[in-house]
Amino acid sequence: MAETKKRSVSFPRYAEYNCAFKYIVEQALDCKYVMPPALTKRTMELGTKYSPDFVCTPFKTMLGSMIESLEAGADTLLMTHGLCRLGYYGELLEQILRDLGYQFDFINLSDYDMDKKKEYIRIVRRFNPKVNPARFLAQFMEGVRMVEYLDEITAEYYKGCGFDAAGRYKQAYQDFLTAMYTAQARNDVEAGYRAAKRAMQSVPLDKPQRPLRVGIVGEFYTAMDAFSNLELEQKLADMGVEVHRWMNVSNQFLHYGGGQKNLRVKIQDLCRYDMGPTSTANIWYARECAERGFDGLVHIKSAACTPEIDVMPVLQNISADYKIPVLYLTYDAQTSDVGLMTRLEAFYDMIDMRKKVL
Ligand code: SF4
Repeated sequence: MAETKKRSVSFPRYAEYNCAFKYIVEQALDCKYVMPPALTKRTMELGTKYSPDFVCTPFKTMLGSMIESLEAGADTLLMTHGLCRLGYYGELLEQILRDLGYQFDFINLSDYDMDKKKEYIRIVRRFNPKVNPARFLAQFMEGVRMVEYLDEITAEYYKGCGFDAAGRYKQAYQDFLTAMYTAQARNDVEAGYRAAKRAMQSVPLDKPQRPLRVGIVGEFYTAMDAFSNLELEQKLADMGVEVHRWMNVSNQFLHYGGGQKNLRVKIQDLCRYDMGPTSTANIWYARECAERGFDGLVHIKSAACTPEIDVMPVLQNISADYKIPVLYLTYDAQTSDVGLMTRLEAFYDMIDMRKKVL
């Protein structure tokens, strides 16, 4: 009897998380994973060309990346749900891709009630009806572990990479990413993580006792995706800044689940209502950085991102209360590297002078 054809699944490029999607699709769902090509100018041109004007930039990036995934042979696209208009984007993305003539199966998490466990089984069965739930769960949790390792090593990297002139820190991070993208089993993930920890700890960093420290807050996609924010964290680190960002997938979804209840309590003096998907965490972390004596904050958002526009007045208050400078950056498909560099250099000069004066 002919073997049932495996699905070729893809999910748009998103920071470095595609290594974990790949692991889960291949190991837990027993499907093929089609790695979307790295995001480029072409991705943005495709996404912008076929998107409505009023959508935020992540929509355009996702659309461009989905087109490139389909071109690379994907027959099934997965789309996440979301707490802002991201929750409606799946329908629109699917319709645009069908109008363009692509044929594919679209699994949109917004079509499911994610509060019910049995819905997860329905989703898994759509990918592969033969999946054994117990095996799926075990392999899925390994993928989740990979996400946690990725977030931990990435955070370490941006705190230290600005103080290693020889580039060994960067090499250790690149080796770690390669290990995650090629991992086929739990041992590979664990070995890659341990090797990265060892390699990074062995690099002698030339770090001053009190380096400039900058906290990054902002919109979930743009703050984390280096292509979308024009490698802001690397640029700051290369100036000799210790870069801190709390916002990542594991902190947002694994360590502070349950609707960020605890964080909301901590910021109730600053805002009475919840304002959107990442607002609570961003406001909490911005004040956390200010209280820890950071030298500056950078707020990143996509053009037309309503939740993050709402966060800005609260950041102004934090800035005034703690005398901490905030650089506000808005990204759209036209944002240029040169323009960003000019603003970053001015920001760096300002926080450096301020630190010397203080
Ligand atoms: S958080 Fe903002 S940028 Fe991100 S999907 Fe929602 S509206 Fe768009």
